[in-house]
This record gives sequence, structure tokens and C-alpha cells, in this order.
Amino acid sequence: MILIDGKKLAAELREELKQEVSELKTKYNKVPGLTVILIGDMAPSQIYVRNKEKSANEVGLKSEVIKYPDTVEEKTILDKIEELNNNDSISGILVQLPLPKHIDKQKVIETITPSKDVDGFHPMNVGNLSSGYESSVPCTPLGCYLMIKKIEPNLSGKKAVVVGRSNLNGKPMTQLLLKENCTVTITHSRTKDLKAECLEADIIVAAVGIPELVKGDWVKKDAIVIDVGINKTENGLVGDVAFDEVSKVAKALTPVPGGVGPMTIACLLKNTIDCFKRSQK
Ligand code: NAP
Repeated sequence: MILIDGKKLAAELREELKQEVSELKTKYNKVPGLTVILIGDMAPSQIYVRNKEKSANEVGLKSEVIKYPDTVEEKTILDKIEELNNNDSISGILVQLPLPKHIDKQKVIETITPSKDVDGFHPMNVGNLSSGYESSVPCTPLGCYLMIKKIEPNLSGKKAVVVGRSNLNGKPMTQLLLKENCTVTITHSRTKDLKAECLEADIIVAAVGIPELVKGDWVKKDAIVIDVGINKTENGLVGDVAFDEVSKVAKALTPVPGGVGPMTIACLLKNTIDCFKRSQK
């Protein structure tokens, strides 16, 4: 079984991006800039943002974090986004989720200009992705996609099952696999026989949030299994896939932690660089 080492793949991707940033600097005499807006002091968000900033600096991006207390007015955030939209030195804007209740998440997402939407959440980017046009793609499914392609470069005709249909993970993942000519089944909480669906799959991507939902006897021999789930349990962090059982049948599997997570941040940097390149065209 191939253990898909997300830390190693993310380090390789960051190395490639670092090289690319250096070439862009030579060509344009400037580097892509990422601005992250962080509202409130929730510990997980603080950690994510710190990691994002550290990785951005590592590859040579210009990065900035703008912090607000969780009492900040919605208008202040929307005005700041507009200001960043109009700032040519900023290539990517990310507002760290979740937001305090009094701030309308959809309004925030739709205020970020699509060309700087490094999270790929703007409806224009969602539409472009589903139409098969160039767009920013949400970072977690993009990372999953790159890992799958490392294991199997030609996905044409493969049967893929995506477990979970969130806008963040399941839906964009489905679009990426469709674009690669997979036959994709997207499953969710009302799916009648999830085990039977999974057993058909050459590729399974699980993004649910239920510890070890996907069992060993749900997986076809030699399937590629990507585990997006991060679940805190008494036994520490576990994914949505029963790792020990599934590792006995799968061809390749991501661990939790150390699988999808590290690739997510690397893909944010990739999205920032891609936004910069599109803006120079
Ligand atoms: P979400 O928005 O809560 O969506 C979960 C999806 O799972 C929903 O579509 C839901 O179906 C489906 N589901 C729930 N119970 C199910 C069941 N018994 N069988 C089949 N499907 C079921 O979750 P998310 O934001 O996509 O996150 C999923 C997991 O990924 C979480 O553990 C999260 O922490 C993790 N995550 C990891 C990363 C990373 O970087 N590694 C990034 C983001 C999220 P319905 O639509 O029918 O309700």
C-alpha cells in the first residue's frame, strides 16, 4: 500500500512555488501578495492563519494578516475587502471562516472580487469550475486532486465516489474528477447504501466529519482512498476512513494527520500565484 505523504508532497509543491515566485519576481519586478482577514480570537483560526502566513513567507509571497475583534461591524469588513480589491499589489484575499454570527458569510464571499478569490468560494468561481473554465478552486479539494494525480496520472474512465456534498469539499471535488473524465457518484447523508456505492469505486474521497465511517469492507481492492476528515476523538485525531482496515485493501491511502491537511495550505499559495499570473495576462 502506498501511504500518500501529504507533508512530503506539500513540501515539494512549496519548493516548486518558491521557484515560480522567484521567476515571476524577475519577470515582473514584483511578487504575488496574499492578504488574510482574521476576525476574533478563536484558537483554530489563529493557528490556521499563522500557518498560512508562515508558508506564504517561505515561498516568497508578500503576505499580510489584518486582524479585527469579533465585535467588528460587517460594513468595516466589506469596506476593507473593497479597498483590497482595488489594491494592485494584492493578488489574493482570504477571509478566515467561520465568521461571527452578525457577519453575513455569503455577503463577505461575494464582495471579494472573483479574480482575487483564493478560496474559490465566489459563485463566479464555482460556476466557472462547473462549466470547465479557468477558475480558483477551493484549496482542500485541489490538494486531494493533486494527490490523486500523483498516484494515477490518467483518471479517464475511472469510477470515483465522493462521500459528502459540501460546497467546501464534496461538490468542487466532484467537478475536478469530472473534468478528468471520471464517472463520479456524489453521496451524502440520504444515500441509501453507501457501502455498495463505495465498493464500486476506483477512487474514494471521504469528506464527511464522521470518525472512521468508511470501513475496510467498503473498499475495492487497489482503490485510491483520500481521507479529508479531521475528527477529534478520545484516541486523538482520526479521519473519516478506518485507516488500519482500509490500508489492507487500498492501493493508496492518505493518513490523518499528515495527508490532506498540509496540501490544503500549499494549494492556497498556488491559488495566490495563479491569481497573480492571470492578472498579468
Ligand atoms: P460538512 O459541510 O459538514 O459536510 C458533510 C457532508 O457529509 C454533507 O454533505 C453530509 O450530507 C455528508 N454526510 C453526513 N453524514 C453522512 C453519512 N452518514 N453518510 C454519508 N454522508 C454523510 O463538512 P465539510 O466542511 O465538507 O468537512 C468534512 C470533513 O472534512 C470534516 O471532518 C472537516 O473537519 C474536514 N475538513 C478537512 C480539511 C483539511 O484540510 N483536511 C478541510 C476542510 C474540512 P448532507 O449534505 O446530506 O447533510
